[in-house]
Amino acid sequence: MGKWLALAILTMLALALWQGWLRPPPAWNPWSPLDLREPANALTRWKLARLRHQPQLCAAALATSTLKYHAQADTPGPCPLSDVVRVSGGEQALSSSFIASCPMAVAFALFSQNAVQPAAQRVFGQAVARIDHLGSFACRNIYGRVDARRSLHASANAIDIAGFRMADGRQISVLHDWGQDTPAGRFLREVRDGACDSFGTVLGPDYNAAHRNHLHMDTAGWALCR
Ligand SMILES: [Zn+2]
Repeated sequence: MGKWLALAILTMLALALWQGWLRPPPAWNPWSPLDLREPANALTRWKLARLRHQPQLCAAALATSTLKYHAQADTPGPCPLSDVVRVSGGEQALSSSFIASCPMAVAFALFSQNAVQPAAQRVFGQAVARIDHLGSFACRNIYGRVDARRSLHASANAIDIAGFRMADGRQISVLHDWGQDTPAGRFLREVRDGACDSFGTVLGPDYNAAHRNHLHMDTAGWALCR
């Protein structure tokens, strides 16, 4: 009985929002674009999933981020790219710029501000100065196998994070610090767990040996984190 009442109320609420009878602030309106200047809330994941398939919603969300990026021309070929950007920095510097689909760039922005910096403050009491990565776009199948499906890297929907440099110059690497009972080890675990709120799939050294030196993050799936 209670279940049906809750469902009826939710349906009415959705209808009222859809029709514009109710005008909540944009952060609490499921139909307005994700605003990265607002703190994450219960609708963030829904908005992230929605912008994966709606370029205009995605562009609006990306414009609210602190990322430095510029649009890249569409490219043909075996792994055609369209609506991609080149990200060259943000709250933290990058070991090098990278190409990203719009949804990946939004997920990365959310990851850097909501997962990386809070974990760094909790564990080290300082900021991360630079994120080190092994690349995003690569025209290949998963694990480079001929008979496998296309990797999310082939559409610039994935990035491999190798480590971090803290504000005081300390280096943290997935290869050396993962699984250690040290501040660096705890920091990496917190970053991996936090990344699951921004990316659909996050795979690290706990998943398999192919990921021993990086955290793979992509925009497919729904909170698959290992
Ligand atoms: Zn990867």
